[in-house]
Amino acid sequence: MIDTHCHIDDEVFLPELDAVVARQREAGVEAILVPGVNKSSLQSVPEVCGKYPGYLYPALGLHPEDVGADWQDVLADTRMKIDEMGVFPASETGVIAIGEIGLDYHWSTEYKDAQHEAFREQLQWAMDLDLPVMVHARDAAEDTLRIVKECYTEAQRQGKRLRGVMHCYSGSREIADEYLKMGWLLGVGGVITFKNCRLAEMLCPTDGKKQPVPLSSLVLETDAPYMAPVPHRGKPNESRYMTYVAARLAEAYGTTEKAVIEATNRAAKALFGVK
Ligand SMILES: [Zn+2]
Repeated sequence: MIDTHCHIDDEVFLPELDAVVARQREAGVEAILVPGVNKSSLQSVPEVCGKYPGYLYPALGLHPEDVGADWQDVLADTRMKIDEMGVFPASETGVIAIGEIGLDYHWSTEYKDAQHEAFREQLQWAMDLDLPVMVHARDAAEDTLRIVKECYTEAQRQGKRLRGVMHCYSGSREIADEYLKMGWLLGVGGVITFKNCRLAEMLCPTDGKKQPVPLSSLVLETDAPYMAPVPHRGKPNESRYMTYVAARLAEAYGTTEKAVIEATNRAAKALFGVK
């Protein structure tokens, strides 16, 4: 299993980081991608990932919820840090993706315009550096898709690529299809195990009206320490709990957990270049 989105640099994990990492390895987690969100991530993400090279892979980006009055300074610092670290795989401890970036109108739209600007700028970095992106979208599905589509078209015009994963995707099938058309992937985490969650049905409809989203378009993730799956809901999440997500997907697709893990591993490796 590859965890494509895990905040293992979070305070909850730091006091016993060695033990936390050992637990994931023992449970069969092969690699963990660690996105940045704000200014303090510029220190914590490289520091934590630097302790486990080839196992923890750093990503950096400015999260939409962290876009505030100082966003331009933080963005400039983020870009400087990326240039200093270099890009994976050319640099073994380099940045593996730009993320997490995107739009979030859930708590506030005060910095909506700034969110748009920061998102576009970071998408342009991804094109210039040929890195994948990890996109967070909450209560902003249409604007997010519009900006990604515009930048995707612009990338093609520039002879570049813009590829990525919609982290913790929970939107409509129609919008999902738009990302799939661009070759993007959907990140699936603990939410799929929640009671009354309709995500499994969206991905693999039982009414036969739509084809299932291919497993090759999905990647596993946790968003740990958040979003723990049932039966750990409400407690700190860990990468090893992705087995519950894989099991739920296997049930929905009428296949085995092993097949789900193989398909999502392949997809993660193809997008991020993890070995
Ligand atoms: Zn996250």
